[in-house]
Amino acid sequence: MKAAAEIAALLNEPACAHNHIAAKEKSGCARPKPGATAGGCAFDGAQIALLPVADVAHIVHGPIACAGNSWDNRGTRSSGPALYKIGMTTDLSETDVIMGRGEKRLFLAVKQAIDTYHPAAVFVYATCVTALIGDDFEALCKAASDQFGVPVIPVDAAGFYGTKNMGNRLAGEAMFKYVIGTREPDPVSDAVRAQFPPGMKIHDVNLIGEYNIAGEFWHVAPLFDQLGLRIIGSLSGDARFRELQTLHRAAATMVVCSKALLNVARKLETNFGVPWFEGSFYGVADTSQALRDFARVLNDPDLAARTEALIAAEEGKANAALEPWRQRLKGRRVLLYTGGVKSWSIVSALQDLGMTVVATGTKKSTEEDKARIREIMGPDAVMIDDGSPKALLNAYKDLKADILIAGGRNLYTALKARIPFLDINQEREFAYAGYGGMVELARQLALTIESPVWRQVQTPAPWQVKRVGTPLTA
Ligand code: SF4
Repeated sequence: MKAAAEIAALLNEPACAHNHIAAKEKSGCARPKPGATAGGCAFDGAQIALLPVADVAHIVHGPIACAGNSWDNRGTRSSGPALYKIGMTTDLSETDVIMGRGEKRLFLAVKQAIDTYHPAAVFVYATCVTALIGDDFEALCKAASDQFGVPVIPVDAAGFYGTKNMGNRLAGEAMFKYVIGTREPDPVSDAVRAQFPPGMKIHDVNLIGEYNIAGEFWHVAPLFDQLGLRIIGSLSGDARFRELQTLHRAAATMVVCSKALLNVARKLETNFGVPWFEGSFYGVADTSQALRDFARVLNDPDLAARTEALIAAEEGKANAALEPWRQRLKGRRVLLYTGGVKSWSIVSALQDLGMTVVATGTKKSTEEDKARIREIMGPDAVMIDDGSPKALLNAYKDLKADILIAGGRNLYTALKARIPFLDINQEREFAYAGYGGMVELARQLALTIESPVWRQVQTPAPWQVKRVGTPLTA
């Protein structure tokens, strides 16, 4: 179980924008309040951050309900193995706890996973129950690793350590402690080298906090290939274990999500000298900026020139594809409630489509995110911290919005209120990243707003109308 000092150190992550605000300089993240885990516990956060590692057996050491908490609730996609889709748990019962059988069950579970699926590694997640009964699961993972010859990685992120965001960081800590730096990257193959002019430098880069939701990174990956940027590892979209082992050898890291796993980027810089920057692949402008930032951080003028040429070509294609959608979406009003993650990036993407963002949710935004939102939306930007159904629906009505863009948990709020809704969070089914993703976003927005179903469901049903044609109910 983690010591209080380790938890406090994680709460004070120096790379987090919250810790750069004078008033909060010494306070770090807010300590969790009762009910804070309603948005996901630390175990949930750790599992969400690591589940996309596709060739690993993910075993939840605890009661079966913990495994059901976050298993497969993210639409993350793999281009190869699908082992990450198989839910595995030690399924501890009350009798196991009383009889002290937790460690034995875990050892057998690791053996069964290795014998059945031959994974590249096994990730074992602690939960509240196994942390409280004092299973020495780190020692057990080491013993299992020695015995079976397969890396068995303990992820010590019991639910009561804190919030989902804390779990992301704990997952990053586990990767840093046991995985990153344990292997050197493969050399660039002759086949890849042959695609570029002789002497052109191929750079190794990392992505951190990119989850390949709905396969959206596949819109962006070909751009990296064209520029000669080799992604040696992604934490953790479409990732493989052997890639994670080499993250320390990248020449630059891009942090794709504004909060999760900042500690990994910072430590890669401090311990291995890998510079990092924060960016986003949502929207035409931000995708171009992310590519430019790679050239800047890598300090390669040739790459910068090739990047500009690629951006000009891609922006031209994207703008041509977006034109018909822009005409359909122009002037439409959006209420955006993403929970805050990269809201500024989505706001600028929507404005680029000619839409008006009437308000945006900032519950999980950093102060830096909020400053950027004000910069984009103006000083009078309406920011919503209360994400309750009532507050969202009131804002929708008061601000005369045409569509609610939010996470899956707001889906039924919107459907019950019979208003157009687009899912923007991790459960979404459409890929919105990169230039191609922007066209998909425009398409989905137009189809959603213009769907004839809204007129139908907002019209009173025949049995609600008197024969004379007056509605019985308002
Ligand atoms: S780890 Fe703890 S808080 Fe999280 S789901 Fe399991 S019992 Fe609940």
